[in-house]
Amino acid sequence: MKPITVTSPLLPDLDEFHELLREIWDSKWITNNGSFHQALEAALCEYLKVPYVSLFTNGTLPLLTALQALRITGEVITTPYSFVATTHAIWWNGCKPVFVDIDPATGNIDPDKIEAAITPRTTAIMPVHVYGKPCDTKRIAAIADKYGLKVIYDAAHAFGVEVNGESILKAGDMSTLSFHATKVYNTIEGGAMVMHDAETKKRIDYLKNFGFAGETEVVGPGINSKMDEIRSAYGLLGLKQVDAAIEARHQVAIRYREALRGVKGITFFDDMPGVRHNYSYFPIFIDAEEYGMTRDELYFKLRDHGIWGRRYFYPLISTFSTYRGLPSASKENLPLAHKMADSVICLPMHHELTVEVTDKITTLISSR
Ligand SMILES: *Cc1c(COP(=O)(O)O)cnc(C)c1O
Repeated sequence: MKPITVTSPLLPDLDEFHELLREIWDSKWITNNGSFHQALEAALCEYLKVPYVSLFTNGTLPLLTALQALRITGEVITTPYSFVATTHAIWWNGCKPVFVDIDPATGNIDPDKIEAAITPRTTAIMPVHVYGKPCDTKRIAAIADKYGLKVIYDAAHAFGVEVNGESILKAGDMSTLSFHATKVYNTIEGGAMVMHDAETKKRIDYLKNFGFAGETEVVGPGINSKMDEIRSAYGLLGLKQVDAAIEARHQVAIRYREALRGVKGITFFDDMPGVRHNYSYFPIFIDAEEYGMTRDELYFKLRDHGIWGRRYFYPLISTFSTYRGLPSASKENLPLAHKMADSVICLPMHHELTVEVTDKITTLISSR
């Protein structure tokens, strides 16, 4: 039997994709800011309700480029409870990551603990909207303003997330997205940066094209992260399906919550008031004592039944060899992040999960 995996890519209609491929073949323009690249940037601005989007080849390079563009140096405050790319981007810019513990109510960096981590060398905060749950962007902005810090949001999980009708991507100096195959919306590999003004957009577009500002002028140490025409066309088609996919995920979340509410030792997040969620993940948290089984025992039991959950985000980034020597990486500094990492399983969550499968999963969990 084929295992039930945690994600399944949202694939465009193959016939429609084939038609667009024909257009690309006829034009012979396959990369370098072609018409599909431009069309996808415009369509994403409209869908995400933001003024400026710059496409990238993945979700890691806009993180690197944001730090580079804002000339971030010294120390960058961030969360250990994320995908490892968040901290890697800080490291690749020659900066020192400073880990701050999380708020267990959301899994996001705890704004109450940020100020204590600020030193004279701090220049930026890089929070993550983990599982697409919005950070407390107002509190973070107030701290950043008080200390003159930049804020770059890793919004890889937060495609389409809105708070009171406004895109979460409008927060901070810049936000970055990932369009990897495993995400809610994908371009196979891909990503984007969201910024707030035309000047920044222009500078970012230079930087993602080696720093070229015209045929012979190079304005900075740029990189190559230009999305090609084929994946841009694929992305245009995916945008037509993403609302339906998010609604299908919402229904999965409703079924999981109905079946698991009241199972002793299992907790999960509910929707936040005023938030348009994207249901990018469905994490559950296991209290081993109350549940009568450890997280790993349940994780492997599910695997034995062909259900491949993922322990996102375990282990914490702060425990990897590159980072574990940092003073802020100590377990004493990050008790709540450790607790969450040690208790989490992300259940399968995608647009194609049937009632039969979610029933099977919730029955396995509730019949321990
Ligand atoms: C997926 C992800 C990234 C990296 O995106 P890629 O497109 O895989 O490079 C960065 N940060 C977070 C939080 C992610 O989940």
